[in-house]
Amino acid sequence: MKIKRIIMAAAAAMATVAGIAAGHDVKVIAHRGYWTAPGSAQNSIDALAKADSVGCFGSEFDVWMTSDSVLVVDHDGWINGYSVQSTPAEIICAQKLKNGETVPTLEQYFEEALKHPNLRLICEMKVATSRHQESEMAKKICEMAKKFGLEDRIDYITFSRDGMLNLMKYAHKGAEVYFLTGDYVPQQLKHFGAAGADYGIWIFQKYPEWVKEIHDLGMKVNVWTVDDEAGMKWCIDNGVDFITTNYPERFMEIQKTYKPGSK
Ligand code: MG
Repeated sequence: MKIKRIIMAAAAAMATVAGIAAGHDVKVIAHRGYWTAPGSAQNSIDALAKADSVGCFGSEFDVWMTSDSVLVVDHDGWINGYSVQSTPAEIICAQKLKNGETVPTLEQYFEEALKHPNLRLICEMKVATSRHQESEMAKKICEMAKKFGLEDRIDYITFSRDGMLNLMKYAHKGAEVYFLTGDYVPQQLKHFGAAGADYGIWIFQKYPEWVKEIHDLGMKVNVWTVDDEAGMKWCIDNGVDFITTNYPERFMEIQKTYKPGSK
């Protein structure tokens, strides 16, 4: 038991060092925008604006492509019984969100983003039903980022390995593409050319040594979707780079007062 306690104390000390080394500066990303704010909705234009209004580092959003190849911002890929990929934009973009807005096109989203120049854009390309469509999506998303002059403000994330490779192919030079599915070890991510891992917190808690391994390989660590206090403190203790949360202001408050390793 004594040995176990010593090991646990050493682990806590190492976590503290990791947190201090990171200067407690874990950057906060609003998951699907700051939609938990009153009057907002997931992936709405309002949620993007609200993420900026409270000082988030970035705002995450999800992108699908309609049957007539229009990029739209939505999470589920199904809206009011319509499959986004099998339905034209005219119908999809007429569907209402919970705050009364209609489903935005990526173009509308980027127009709003131009009004918030300090906000980083974390663009999740959803996994399409065909590889061909996924390739087309990646190309069109990257072209639109270029058209709006947003290339330097956008990072890409995806659950699809092919999607990741397509984004790397079409995005601007130096673009950061993160992988979301936690089934690659750090060395594999490096091999693919990813900017880092954007994995669920349970994966990093299972393999906490990956945080250091990823950093040692010159990559970054983003953790999703961390909404509870214990998880937020874990992220600070372990020196991750980014936290993706539905409650960005909750995290900001914790980060202000929490001393790493003291929970
Ligand atoms: Mg997402």
